[in-house]
Amino acid sequence: RAKHDGHGSFRFFEAAMDAEARKRRQMELDLREAISGGQLSLMFQPLFNLAESRVSAFEALLRWNHPERGLVSPVDFIPLAEDTGLIVPIGEWVVREACRVARSWPDHVRIAVNVSPVQFRNPGLAAVILQALTESGLPPHRLELEITESLFIDNPATTLASLHSLRRLGVRVALDDFGTGYSSLSYLRAFPFDKIKIDRSFIIDLMSSDGATAIIKSITMLADALGMETTAEGVEDVGQLDILREQGCNQIQGFYFSKPVVEAEVQRLLSAGSREEMRIAS
Ligand code: C2E
Ligand code: MG
Ligand code: MG
Ligand code: MG
Repeated sequence: RAKHDGHGSFRFFEAAMDAEARKRRQMELDLREAISGGQLSLMFQPLFNLAESRVSAFEALLRWNHPERGLVSPVDFIPLAEDTGLIVPIGEWVVREACRVARSWPDHVRIAVNVSPVQFRNPGLAAVILQALTESGLPPHRLELEITESLFIDNPATTLASLHSLRRLGVRVALDDFGTGYSSLSYLRAFPFDKIKIDRSFIIDLMSSDGATAIIKSITMLADALGMETTAEGVEDVGQLDILREQGCNQIQGFYFSKPVVEAEVQRLLSAGSREEMRIAS
């Protein structure tokens, strides 16, 4: 194959690399601008508690309203933000904004915030979270940090230490995208998470495979035994909901109940007897 790759195609490859590098560089500049220019916003997706028949939390989901490209998904800019370290100021903005918004919600409604491993490597994280709580007046137990298993790969000992110091602030800790990483079970033993969020990939298979139901059953039993709650991510239809309810999953999150909404829509979802609640109530 290499035989056919003459200098021409190598130069073409180099040019493509340059273009890619320039694109990244431009995107990095744009992202800096986004932070100072107010182009970041949060959407909120409800977690519906099945036993209580009400919304028990919202997850804050970051959006970037780019002046030319329009709404950019976090999947497309979080990796760059992590590589460049911009996730640190971005993450700080997210947690402060999330706490500020959630302060006016009823006491039983929590706010969940995604925290990147890169933020964990930054020694200022606990101070940032404490400040967000203090300036907003949000009680710490109403803030839930969502972390992923990838956090444990680099430096498990340091990770555990920072998780424990965050927990001492009184905030809750959830394990996000559960089941997609490596040797998940050892992490469950290492840290007493408040909640396990079962990844959407397991929910997708629920209707088509008995194995998927068995896995959900095992996860909810394990979580119960460890004193952890479970949330199913990406629930899109009533068939999945029925199985999850039957298997004792505590909360569901997904398009079937509600897509992520803007702050103003939160109140409607919280009002007792909203049309979404009526549809789910068993
Ligand atoms: P995640 O934390 O697992 O968030 C759930 C994602 O699934 C969200 O995508 C949500 O819109 C989507 N989702 C919810 N229900 C359904 C459903 O029923 N079907 C389908 N197909 N998707 C559903 P989103 O908002 O695009 O966020 C993607 C990821 O970006 C998040 O995954 C999280 O890892 C990351 N992210 C979002 N906001 C932040 C943030 O503020 N900080 C950091 N570090 N990461 C963030
Ligand atoms: Mg999450
Ligand atoms: Mg998730
Ligand atoms: Mg997920």
